[in-house]
Amino acid sequence: MGLIFGSFLNVCIYRMPRELSVVSPGSACPVCEAPIAAYDNIPVLSWIILRGKCRRCKAPISPRYAAVELLTAALFLLSYLYAPAMANALPQQLNFPVSPNQYLIALELCVLSFLLIGLIFTDAETKLLPDLLTKPGIALGLIFSLFVPLDGPAQRILPMLANWRVISFFNSMAGAILGSAFIMGVALLYEAVRGTEGMGRGDVKLMALIGAFLGVKLTLVVLVMGSVIGSLFGMSLILWVWLKRLARRRKRHPAEAGSVSRSRAWQSATLIYRNFEIPFGVFLGTAALFSAFWGTALVHWYAGMYR
Ligand SMILES: [Zn+2]
Repeated sequence: MGLIFGSFLNVCIYRMPRELSVVSPGSACPVCEAPIAAYDNIPVLSWIILRGKCRRCKAPISPRYAAVELLTAALFLLSYLYAPAMANALPQQLNFPVSPNQYLIALELCVLSFLLIGLIFTDAETKLLPDLLTKPGIALGLIFSLFVPLDGPAQRILPMLANWRVISFFNSMAGAILGSAFIMGVALLYEAVRGTEGMGRGDVKLMALIGAFLGVKLTLVVLVMGSVIGSLFGMSLILWVWLKRLARRRKRHPAEAGSVSRSRAWQSATLIYRNFEIPFGVFLGTAALFSAFWGTALVHWYAGMYR
């Protein structure tokens, strides 16, 4: 199932940012436009058999196709394997008594994995987070909270809510609002300080989706983790550009003083960095995937360090 959905996800990743239909026409080579036969459309296997090239024109096929299929399959399998343990652990984590269904947990994890892999790869390739994935994703996260109990502040803030589904739904909404409000705040602050848009509206919708699925506590984990990964990426990027510029400058101006070369290269690196759009959705999505499976364990481990 993961391989099949991963294969469909590849179609979404290519077509959604280009505003093409994901249903028709059938798959074709983007270079020679030859339709792809069913026997050349087998997940992972076809990519290996064709050695990553179109059968007709030999144009290279991105390894992303096989990677997305394998990743989706791996996460679907993980969802299935993790669900029973999660169903067992959930009643102790909840502030309201419910025993959750392990198959619904597995389904929810599969749906979340599918959406996040699609969003991570479209953001990485096109810097876009398609509404066709984020908007239904937010709705699905809210709907799942009616079937898989989600912990959060609703039980304490609204103690008169007797029905666990209502409590869980409010917790899902609280997660969505917290996630999107935080990104919205950062985006507005960035615009006010720098005068340019640093974070897109797609990131706001992505965090609403993540919050709706994961709830308040894990949304905080995702925000912290995403910021750390993003900062590390940004810092290594600027350092890498600086070192490259420095090497080039030393070759062109061998007589220049070391300190002058270093500061000139630094100026050039920061200039490039200022115009570079960091794919923040990639980091938030990755942090959310990690948190969906291991976030609760991470919180317990972190809390245990201070006991
Ligand atoms: Zn071709």
